[in-house]
Amino acid sequence: MITLFDRASRPLIKRILKTYVRPYTGWVVQAMIWMVVGAAMSAVFASLIQPVLDDILINHKRHLVVPVAAGLFICFVLRGVSGYLNTVLMNKTGQHIVSDIQNDVFSHLMTLDVGYFHKNASGTLLSRITADTGVMRMAVAEGLTNLGKNSLTLVLLIGVMFWRDWGLALAVFVIFPITAVFISKLGKRLRKVSTRTQESIGLMSALLTQTFQGIRQVKAYGREDFEARRMEGKFDDVRDLNIKNVKIGTLNTPVNEILAGLCMCGLVLYGAQQSRLGHLSPGELMSFITAFLLSYEPMKKIAKVNNTLQIGLGAASRVFEVLDTQARIPTTGGEKPPITVYDVAFENVEFSYTGDDDRALNGLSFNVQPGQVTALVGPSGGGKSTVLNLLLRFYDPQSGNIKVGGHDIRSLDPSYLRAQMALVSQDITIFDDTALANIAYGRGGASEIEIMQAAKAAHAHEFITGLPDGYNTRLGENGVALSGGQRQRIALARAFLKNAPILLLDEATSALDAESEALVQESLNALQKGRTTLVIAHRLSTILHADNILLVERGRVAEQGNHANLLAKGGLYAALYARNQIAA
Ligand code: ADP
Repeated sequence: MITLFDRASRPLIKRILKTYVRPYTGWVVQAMIWMVVGAAMSAVFASLIQPVLDDILINHKRHLVVPVAAGLFICFVLRGVSGYLNTVLMNKTGQHIVSDIQNDVFSHLMTLDVGYFHKNASGTLLSRITADTGVMRMAVAEGLTNLGKNSLTLVLLIGVMFWRDWGLALAVFVIFPITAVFISKLGKRLRKVSTRTQESIGLMSALLTQTFQGIRQVKAYGREDFEARRMEGKFDDVRDLNIKNVKIGTLNTPVNEILAGLCMCGLVLYGAQQSRLGHLSPGELMSFITAFLLSYEPMKKIAKVNNTLQIGLGAASRVFEVLDTQARIPTTGGEKPPITVYDVAFENVEFSYTGDDDRALNGLSFNVQPGQVTALVGPSGGGKSTVLNLLLRFYDPQSGNIKVGGHDIRSLDPSYLRAQMALVSQDITIFDDTALANIAYGRGGASEIEIMQAAKAAHAHEFITGLPDGYNTRLGENGVALSGGQRQRIALARAFLKNAPILLLDEATSALDAESEALVQESLNALQKGRTTLVIAHRLSTILHADNILLVERGRVAEQGNHANLLAKGGLYAALYARNQIAA
C-alpha cells in the first residue's frame, strides 16, 4: 500500500487512469456502486450475528426470527448479485483497456523506423503487446476492485468492530501497521523480479521465433540438439524466475496467518474475561469475531493488490517506453513536389548501421539515368542491400546526399518518396489472406480488374485461376503453400499493381525451375520497361543486359560501366567474372 504512492509510480498511474481508464468512467462508476452494495452487505451480515445470538438463540424473541432470517437471506443475495455485476463490469473495462493499449502500441510501432525493429527482437515486441498488456489489465481490474470493494468492506467491518467494542478493535489494529511495512518491502522486490521475468519471456519468445524461422538451417546443419539445449536454458530461466516470483509473492500468506492466529488467540482470552464480567454479551462478541473473520479476506486481497500493482506498473512502464519512442524517420511530413525525371543519385554517402566506425557505406557515389537498368554487383557484405535501404529511406546516412529526381530525399515526405518505388525483394512475404488480397497489398484500393491485370502481367493469373477457389484461395500460413516461382510472381504482380516509376529489385539467389525462371524473366523485362531500375543482380543474364553495372565493394563503387567495358578494363570485375563469382 505504501509503495503504491511512491514518487516514481505516480505519473505512471496518472497516465494509465487518464488515458486508458477515463473513457470507461461509466462502467467503473457502476462497478463502484455494486462494490458499495457488496461491502455494505458484509457489514450488515456481521451486525446481524448479534441479534441471532442474543435475541433469537439466548432470549428466544420469536417475533424476530423471521425478519432476521429474511434479512440474512437478502443480505447474501445482494452480496452474490453485486459481486457478479462488479466482476463483469470491471473485467469488461479491463479487456477494453487491453485492446485500446494494444491498438495504440501496434499503430505506434507501425510508425517507427526499420532501425527500431532491427534493434528490438520481434519476440520482445511481441511480449510488449501480449504479455505486458495482459499484466496491465490484471493490475487495473484487480487494483480497482480490490482497492474499491475490499477496502470499503474492510472499513465497514472495522466500523462494526469498533461499534461492538472499541478497545478490542484498537488492540487488533495495532497489528496492521506491522503488516503494511512488511508488505511494502515485499512489493519492491517483487517488482524487480517480475521485470526480470518479463524480460526473460521476451528473450525466450525472440529465440523461439528465430529458431522456427530458421528451421531449415537448424535441420540442414543438424543443430536440433543444440537448439533444444539452448531453449532449455531459456525455459529454465523463466521457470526459476517464476518460482522466485511465487516465493516472494506468497510470503504474505504465512505472515498474515500468523498475525490472524495471534489476534484470534487474544480475542478468545479477552472475550472470555469481558463476557464473565458482563461487559460484552455473547452476541456482541460473536458479531465482533465475525466482523474480524470477514475482514480477513479483504485484508489479504488488499495486501496482494500491492504485488499486482507493482507487477502492473512494471509492465506499464515497458509499454509506455515503446509508446514514447520517437521514430527517427517519420512516416509522413515533408514536400511532395511533382517529379518528372526519375533519376537517382548517391553523393558521397557514408553510413553505419550501428552509428560507430563500422561503416556499411564509405563515401559511395553513383548516378542512375532515368529509364535505365542499373545492376549492383559485388561481394557479399559490400553494401548493395544497404543502398536500397537508404534509397527507401529506411535509414538516413550519417553524411552525403541521396537524390531522386533532383530532390534530396530527406526533404521529401517519406510515404510520397516510397510511393515512387516498388520493391521486389528476395524474402517475399505471403500474407495469410486470399490471392486477391495478397496482390492488392501492392496498392490499397485497387479494383479487382486492376489486380487481375497485374496478375496477368506477372504471369501469376494462370496458376491463381488453377487454385481451388481461384483468386479467393487463401495463401500463406493457413492456406495454400506456393512454390518459389509462384511467390515471386505474386511479388511481381504487386509491383505491376503499384506501377511506380522506380523499380528496386533484389534478385533471388535460389534457382527456380526452368519454366518459372522463363516466366519470371519475361515479367521482369516487361516490368522494367519505362522505369528506372536498380537491381541487386544474382543472375548473369541480368548483368549482361544492364545499361550500367556498379561494382560495390567495401561500401564504395569500385568500378562501373557496362559488361564489355568492365571486362576490357581488366580490374576487379574482370577478375571476379573470370572466377565465375560475379553473379554470386
Ligand atoms: P550486401 O547486400 O552487398 O551483401 P549489405 O548492404 O547487406 O551488403 O551489408 C553491408 C554491411 O552492413 C555488412 O558489413 C553487413 O554486415 C552490415 N549490415 C547489414 N545490415 C545490417 C544491420 N541491420 N545492422 C548492422 N549491420 C548491418
